[in-house]
Amino acid sequence: MNELIERAAKDLLKARYAIALTGAGISTESGIHDFRGPDGIWTKNPDMERRAYEAYGKFKKNPKQYWEETLSSPNMLGDLTSVLPNPGHYALSKLEEMGILKCLITQNIDNLHETAGSRRVLDYHGNAFKLRCVRCNARYPAAEYDLTKLKAEDRLPPRCKQCNGVLKEDIVHFNESIPADVAEHSNTEALRCDLMLICGTSAVVYPFANLPRIARQRSLGLSPDFMYSPVETSTVTIIEVNAEPTPLTEDGVSDYLIQGKTGEVLPAIVREIERIKGISET
Ligand code: NAD
Repeated sequence: MNELIERAAKDLLKARYAIALTGAGISTESGIHDFRGPDGIWTKNPDMERRAYEAYGKFKKNPKQYWEETLSSPNMLGDLTSVLPNPGHYALSKLEEMGILKCLITQNIDNLHETAGSRRVLDYHGNAFKLRCVRCNARYPAAEYDLTKLKAEDRLPPRCKQCNGVLKEDIVHFNESIPADVAEHSNTEALRCDLMLICGTSAVVYPFANLPRIARQRSLGLSPDFMYSPVETSTVTIIEVNAEPTPLTEDGVSDYLIQGKTGEVLPAIVREIERIKGISET
């Protein structure tokens, strides 16, 4: 493990454009359960998974009823307002502050990267603290809308202040497309990076799980549809930090896996980078 941490530190220092991808695993040490880990919400309660798959269909059919049900049922992930970032989140924000990490793409909806100080964050699956217009994609802090009052006054669903379109939670449900702005920006980052640090994701949820594959195919001289491309050929290093191997490990998409907790491995990588930099500066 120590050798891999040293290797990751050296790879990050060499990278010209490093990005990070994160999933639910990075937030488990903050007390938010993941879905598919051994202690995951769906591993323990498969019925919740079925209901999650139905949510978007309900919204499309009847947004008012969807909002009424959402406001009267507990959040699947619990109360996120009092959850704090853990050392894994802080290590990634430190890597950005050091100028090493250029962008962070997260599947998490918990806002913990932003709270930890990361600035260039793409919330691939949205953000639990925002609402999004399904017509024009405008986002609003959820706190700007008194949803309980709107419900009491029978004025649900909430409406966009720019185009009067219907607002839903910003979080992306199953069978809902990734908002075009975030999807395009994320693909561009995957095509541009020369290092991808993937932390705490089972890498089975698509299209997010395609991002490492896009980076790998590009570095093999393949375009995203597996055709040979005469341009865009440059190497990429793909590192996973995860509690267990994933399809990216098994299919050889990642170069290596550092198996362990993100809250321990990521700070150890930062410490190693600081040590190497300290040596080179003296
Ligand atoms: P997942 O539940 O499918 O997989 C999590 C992975 O992280 C597993 O492989 C697990 O073994 C690993 N893991 C758990 N704790 C870890 C730790 N401390 N260190 C290292 N690895 C650890 O999660 P996913 O791949 O992100 O996909 C789930 C979907 O559910 C995502 O789309 C996400 O939006 C959503 N989700 C979000 C949150 C959140 O916002 N915190 C929580 C649960 C689910």
